[in-house]
Amino acid sequence: MDTRPGWDDYFMDIAGLVASRSTCMRRQVGCVFVKDRRILSTGYNGAPSGVAHCSETGCRRQQEGIPSGERTELCRGVHAEQNAIIQGARHGVVLQGATVYATTQPCSICTKMLINAGVEEIIFEGDFPDDMSLQLLKEAGVFCHKHAKKKAGRKKVANEG
Ligand SMILES: [Zn+2]
Ligand SMILES: [Zn+2]
Repeated sequence: MDTRPGWDDYFMDIAGLVASRSTCMRRQVGCVFVKDRRILSTGYNGAPSGVAHCSETGCRRQQEGIPSGERTELCRGVHAEQNAIIQGARHGVVLQGATVYATTQPCSICTKMLINAGVEEIIFEGDFPDDMSLQLLKEAGVFCHKHAKKKAGRKKVANEG
């Protein structure tokens, strides 16, 4: 049974699948909120419901060549973590005490929301140029670490002959 993924790999893989729904032109991000190994909420970055996506209208951040992590308000998109918190609010799901698996390190705006949502742990995979978010998490006592990518990956069963 050594092909069975561990919990962190499992939830991070799901976050990656969630990210594939993103309509952002620059970076597809996905996240999964988990408690007691149950998924509470998921989110990916994209425009609000009923609003045209950047992929249809073009994105001002893209057009103006704004560096990663800056002037995020110019984009139509809602960040993955924000969408997951909003989904929790819409459906009445308590996110307090959750662990968040995110494909990218949260930005400082999402970080402030995650802290106040009562998230206890954040596990991310990709880096994001925002030192303030890591500083805020440390200060708030939210455990945060980078996910070590799968070492061996899943072994494929030989299917020849
Ligand atoms: Zn955009
Ligand atoms: Zn964010």
